[in-house]
Amino acid sequence: MRRVTIFGATGSIGENTIDLLLRQRDRYEVVALTGGRNVARLAEQARALNARLAVTCYPECHAALAEALAGTGIETAAGPEALLEAADRPADWIMSAIVGAAGLAPGFRALRHGTTLALANKESLVTAGPLLMAEAARRGATILPVDSEHSAIFQGLVGEDIAAVERVVITASGGAFRDWPLERLAQATLDEASTHPNWAMGQRITIDSASMFNKSLELIETREFFGIDPARIEVVIHPESLVHALVGFRDGALMAHLGPPDMRHAIGYALNWPERAELPVARLDLAAIGQLNFQAPDLRRYPALALAREVMRIRGHAGAAFNAAKERALDAFIAGEIAFTDMARVVEATLDRLSGECALARPPESLDTVLAIDHLARQRAAEAVRALNART
Ligand code: NDP
Repeated sequence: MRRVTIFGATGSIGENTIDLLLRQRDRYEVVALTGGRNVARLAEQARALNARLAVTCYPECHAALAEALAGTGIETAAGPEALLEAADRPADWIMSAIVGAAGLAPGFRALRHGTTLALANKESLVTAGPLLMAEAARRGATILPVDSEHSAIFQGLVGEDIAAVERVVITASGGAFRDWPLERLAQATLDEASTHPNWAMGQRITIDSASMFNKSLELIETREFFGIDPARIEVVIHPESLVHALVGFRDGALMAHLGPPDMRHAIGYALNWPERAELPVARLDLAAIGQLNFQAPDLRRYPALALAREVMRIRGHAGAAFNAAKERALDAFIAGEIAFTDMARVVEATLDRLSGECALARPPESLDTVLAIDHLARQRAAEAVRALNART
């Protein structure tokens, strides 16, 4: 039996992971499942998988969780400390699928025990990539990428010498507003931004796909996970979302990874690695697909990509500042406080201010310094939101 824990079980990645586990129920022993406000679903999942522990990150949701699991013998707990305690419970494979910077601490803690960490929470690498990779190396832990692009690159590198890699190309659907006239973007509504042309994902990452903040995080994630020079990482728009990434080698070969837009492939690859298991994903019919399209991203439509290049140039704590400002700007857009196009303005203003206020380029020394920058960037981003509102 393989011992498995899922952080962010009630989310889109968490549900897809559970779908795979339930198909081979007798192979897995579920140590812990964690969630947030959706305690009814968390309790259902814990029952279905007979988990030993269910944790909500919100103390105020604990009573409802405990009530929903009363009489089952499944232990319950709540709060950020309880998440860390869940990470301390021995497990062979842990899925890190909390959304946002909140996913950093539990994943980091899990590495301490030399586990295999399937990393969907890209924010961990964006905010604290060098710390995370060093901790994994020190503890003999394995990090497996779960983002579809990074899983694709990882698979493209099996058996290859990283020194022979000339470039990697990550693809982007272009999101909900790929074909909108530029001047209409400022009027984009929350509903319009929350619809993805190809993937079914959580709301936050769907909006981040429309703005390409998600692709920006992935650029930084690629740099941190694979150690590839940013100048060698390209982004190309690929509306069909069937080619997830390509790896180019010095002999001119460009290896593409294709698959349907179904996260169960990347999750299943990480779950079964280093083997390949049969997975319940659709098989591509190339003749029916007919053609695949690619185009260069327009930086006027996707200013987040230019900001990510600047973050990779500065490195240090810039990723933590970028991500925190992005999360705060996204909160403001969801709350109707700012326009869709203001999100990039808020992030840029935050990075500008922090560049003047603190040594952003200083390499992160500990999670505490990362979290301090995260905190400061959220404050500065909130001020930038207020400044934008004061102008209008
Ligand atoms: P969702 O929003 O669907 O789910 C997020 C999960 O995190 C839920 O279980 C939620 O609980 C929990 N959660 C929310 N806030 C907190 C918090 N402060 N502390 C602890 N737990 C919290 O996200 P996704 O599944 O879409 O994404 C998860 C991660 O995976 C993100 O980093 C995303 O970028 C990445 N990713 C997602 C992909 C996708 O296809 N969805 C693809 C590739 C990467 P609850 O819902 O109960 O409140």
